[in-house]
Amino acid sequence: MKKSTWKAIIIGAIGSALGGIVLLFFTKDLLTKVWSFIVSIFVWVWDSLNDSYSLFGWLWIPIILLAFIGLINLIHSFRPISEKSVPDYYRYKEDFIHMAKWRWNWQDNRITNLWCFCPTCDATLVYNDPSVRDFLSSELGTKFICENCDKVVAQIDSGDKKYAISAVTREIDRRIRTKQYQAPNK
Ligand SMILES: [Zn+2]
Repeated sequence: MKKSTWKAIIIGAIGSALGGIVLLFFTKDLLTKVWSFIVSIFVWVWDSLNDSYSLFGWLWIPIILLAFIGLINLIHSFRPISEKSVPDYYRYKEDFIHMAKWRWNWQDNRITNLWCFCPTCDATLVYNDPSVRDFLSSELGTKFICENCDKVVAQIDSGDKKYAISAVTREIDRRIRTKQYQAPNK
């Protein structure tokens, strides 16, 4: 006999033996129960689809599908933004501009929470512009003062605080555009 024929016979014999063993474990009663269980599942699915809810049963299929797609989109939107989709300059959040240390955040490609700190003691600077009336307001421009070191750290010669912030924002944009900025590695 050919080798392949023997192989077929052996496989057939093993298959029959395994089938016999499986049948030994299932009494006729159990098989009937399993069969009726499978049938009941099919009947339940069929009944559910044809049942008279407020909508036709089959209409639930596209609704469930759409809900499923919506759920996937929702999960997708909560995923953390991968490293590749974030621009490199998003890591650039600190620099020395006009003698002060400025820090900011990025949101939708826009600079947010921009403020300055003392390069010596890292204290949050307070500002003093022509709109604020006190002993420094007679001079033009905005001064950024460190209360801790008791000195003027930075001065932007024209405009008020709003102008100073927008001038710093423009300088950050310029450094990014001309690739003069240095972002930390991680
Ligand atoms: Zn200081």
